[in-house]
Amino acid sequence: MNARETDVVIVGGGTSGAYLGWRLAERGMRCLILEKKPLGELGKDIGPFHMEEEAFARFGIPLPQGDELLHRLETITTWPPGRGRKVTASLTTLDMDKPAFMRRLISYAREAGAEVVERTGFMGVVRDRGVPVGVTARGPDGEFRVPCRLVVDASGIGGAVRTSQPATPWFENDGIADIDTLVVYMESWGGLEGEVNPDINSFLHFQGWYAPSYGEEMIVGVGMPASPEGAVKRQRAFAATLPFTGEARSSTSGRVPYRRPPFSLVDNGLMVVGDAAFMNKPFSGEGVTSALTACAIAAEVAAEALSRDDLTREALWPYNLRYFRGQGAKFAFLTAAMPALVSLSPPEIDFLYEVPGIFTPEGTRALNLEYELKSDPAETLRAVPALMGGIAAGRLRPGSLARIARMGAVAGAIRKLYESYPEHPADFGAWVRKARPLWERADRARHDYFRRLLREWA
Ligand SMILES: Cc1cc2nc3c(=O)[nH]c(=O)nc-3n(C[C@H](O)[C@H](O)[C@H](O)COP(=O)(O)OP(=O)(O)OC[C@H]3O[C@@H](n4cnc5c(N)ncnc54)[C@H](O)[C@@H]3O)c2cc1C
Repeated sequence: MNARETDVVIVGGGTSGAYLGWRLAERGMRCLILEKKPLGELGKDIGPFHMEEEAFARFGIPLPQGDELLHRLETITTWPPGRGRKVTASLTTLDMDKPAFMRRLISYAREAGAEVVERTGFMGVVRDRGVPVGVTARGPDGEFRVPCRLVVDASGIGGAVRTSQPATPWFENDGIADIDTLVVYMESWGGLEGEVNPDINSFLHFQGWYAPSYGEEMIVGVGMPASPEGAVKRQRAFAATLPFTGEARSSTSGRVPYRRPPFSLVDNGLMVVGDAAFMNKPFSGEGVTSALTACAIAAEVAAEALSRDDLTREALWPYNLRYFRGQGAKFAFLTAAMPALVSLSPPEIDFLYEVPGIFTPEGTRALNLEYELKSDPAETLRAVPALMGGIAAGRLRPGSLARIARMGAVAGAIRKLYESYPEHPADFGAWVRKARPLWERADRARHDYFRRLLREWA
């Protein structure tokens, strides 16, 4: 078994691994990215994907050009199930070719000095007195060992590194359960006939959307908990409600995580980023921008720790602190709060669309860009009589409103807790003891809703 030495081994050359490798190499760190697939395959399982235009400047990524950019979309429209009052928000989103985007990220990483090896799978972490000092991997030329100071799990939803580690109070090693996943199933439709809104269209009730794909084609997709068969059935039912018809020219399916991240993203010599740490937007499952947010923080913290040659969990802790007090707190709130909202019946959602101040263009923008469920307090107050009227008229069940209030309170408490994520590992145990019971309530509510969907569609 040959050995080559580096500072950081990043397991996975997807969005997270390639971006993190780029950012670390740029800071002068020696990086080896291990990718089990051939690099030419990266992104092919997804095809077209969406990313907000403003994110490119935030993450220092040049805007896509040529064939990589499929469409520049100006708005997102959310629709009530009965197609009554829709809400359109301006939000510039780029519809892009994921394989081309991945080629570009990998080339940036290489140009900055990172080494990227393909067809090479992570096998295990090598430890010395419990501390990670390298990894073993298997590539086309056989097995090899890489001594390193830091191992980063960027291996996607399976969390290859994290789940291979011994469980410690610091580092959860559980694999993802089916009930904590959304299966995304999407078809690309051509030969469209009927009324098509050529931007992004989102349908809360089906966790469904349609949006431009390659050329003139439209993606028609849904998210569905746990079940690939259920996702196809749900997509068919959703497609039947659309005001246009088309012919499915291709289809794609994959899984995204839908649960809280591990309570800590670091341990001695270890970090987790992206889908491996369940960092997807809790309302849509999208994970590119949110992974970039975490990787930007992780790169700064890791570079600082490497330059001091201190890779202890204490030295890597600022990644936890900065991620969880920022995006992590917002996502935690939404993960806990959203099921109560999306599990409303179609007539109830229709009713809420009619109430001024509930679904608004500003709210839609804020949810997508700032990950906030924002509403103007004055408008919310004005909504109260309308909501009461809805209950009196039987358009909103009192139980639904009570569930939203209950889960809103749990979600609010979770958010507050994440906003005061412990500054030091010494306070982590006490923090986890407060977080666990809140998540048990939130998870129970989400699992109940997901199981209902499984009974309906699977
Ligand atoms: C159908 C579908 C559509 C989507 N559309 C969008 C969208 O429009 N916008 C958006 O923001 N998000 C979208 N997402 C989610 C997004 O693709 C992910 O959140 C994002 O790719 C996460 O990046 P990642 O690098 O963390 O994980 P991944 O992209 O999964 O990359 C992980 C990499 O690690 C490699 N790997 C795994 N195990 C090992 C191992 N043992 N050794 C070496 N390498 C390993 C894998 O081969 C993979 O290349 C979509 C997801 C799906 C399934």
